[in-house]
Amino acid sequence: MKSLKNLAEVCQEEQYRFISSFDHVLTDMDGVIWLAYKPIPGAAECIASLKLHGKRINYVTNNGVSSVNSICRSLKRSGFNAEEEDIANPILSAISYLKKINFRGEIFAVGSQQFKDELWAADFQLASDPPQDIEESVHSLLENIADNDNVMAVIFNYDVNLTFIKLQKMLTYLKRKECLFIVAANDKVTPIGPLGPLIGNQYFLNAIQNISGRDPFYVAKPSEHYVQFVNEKFHITDPKRVLFIGDSIVEDMSTADIGGYQKLLVLTGSAKLEDINNWKYPTEYQPEYYVESLKVFNEILETVQKCQCIP
Ligand SMILES: [Mg+2]
Repeated sequence: MKSLKNLAEVCQEEQYRFISSFDHVLTDMDGVIWLAYKPIPGAAECIASLKLHGKRINYVTNNGVSSVNSICRSLKRSGFNAEEEDIANPILSAISYLKKINFRGEIFAVGSQQFKDELWAADFQLASDPPQDIEESVHSLLENIADNDNVMAVIFNYDVNLTFIKLQKMLTYLKRKECLFIVAANDKVTPIGPLGPLIGNQYFLNAIQNISGRDPFYVAKPSEHYVQFVNEKFHITDPKRVLFIGDSIVEDMSTADIGGYQKLLVLTGSAKLEDINNWKYPTEYQPEYYVESLKVFNEILETVQKCQCIP
């Protein structure tokens, strides 16, 4: 297995070669530029500096709870100069898939209100949600999980209001093989906030998959569809000239592998130095370089520039 190098510890010539080897940066958000929307020191400066060096910047997040409009507002508040069209998230990825297959019918959308609003705004019809609380009787349970054959897709996203009834309702719809099963959030845990990690969707998804016997279509990282969507949205024609920056080996480095992008792992989120020193993941997920933080990456950019290595 090749060794994973700390970008801060290689010679300036190698740093220069690396920085010159990409024109376009796709960056993850949580754990790279902010943690639960709290900016990571030095990240905004690094992104600005990359732009100054002529690199295109796009954000590729697995945040399927917020709309890109809301994410963009948070970016601006945190000092990042970004526009909505610079951001890709699983909501847009799901919509692109539904449009691509010319989807007709109602959607049972399990997720946040912003997620549902985005589906409405894209002209999709949503099935009504079951009540949050039901009467505790078999009759009421059966009534509330009854089928509606207008529903032709179930989309499972992160939902803080997830209930037993919603999970049961998903199973009812998925009994019909023609009903699509789309997954927009598949995290094991969500490392958000001081009380985290929070339970991710994967545990609930496992139950749904085991009982229904259905294999979902994934639209979040890491998935073929998300990569295809990102390539189309950001007009990527030469993935070798694209650098993917992420903090997660299983979400980001794997996505970069699918896309054929270069990879840079940062240690401000889920991946730790221990993961690097004791690599337990597929070899193809391994980046050539890692860097402690975007702050350190920015210092490297500045040093290399001062030496007039960067044209
Ligand atoms: Mg992340």
